[in-house]
Amino acid sequence: MEHDPQTLKFAADRMLGKLARWLRLMGQDVIYGPHLTGYGLIRAARQEGRLILTRDRRLKQKQPPPFLFIESDGYREQLRQVVRACHLDPMARAFTRCAECNALLEPRAKQKVETLVPPYVFSSQERFVACPHCRRIYWPATHHEKMLAELRKITPSEPGN
Ligand SMILES: [Zn+2]
Repeated sequence: MEHDPQTLKFAADRMLGKLARWLRLMGQDVIYGPHLTGYGLIRAARQEGRLILTRDRRLKQKQPPPFLFIESDGYREQLRQVVRACHLDPMARAFTRCAECNALLEPRAKQKVETLVPPYVFSSQERFVACPHCRRIYWPATHHEKMLAELRKITPSEPGN
């Protein structure tokens, strides 16, 4: 694939919600929604220069802009395919983007989130980021561990590691 991973943006079709969320957790710019199917997906991708991720075999016939046909039904296999095909570094920009709405996350001072997160999280975490759009709070340390565990499942270890 000829795309630069730094500037790559995605448009995921409506069958790929879980994949879209995981790519966002990696910091990838992914649009996704019920309207993104068929020509709606093609139009949005073309307007914004996005690579289409699709499970729709018939999309080809609609003369789409560049797309990646996603082979698997399982999100782990899907994620593995996209990471490989697009040469993504899963952790390079992890937790820079909201998994729910694709907005860029902003740092939040610890004292500002006290009433917004569970007490055990507040007492055990130091670093928080928040979504300016949906107000969701993320605490990268814990999320990182979960994500690393998940990524270990999807990323075959390199020879020699
Ligand atoms: Zn959000």
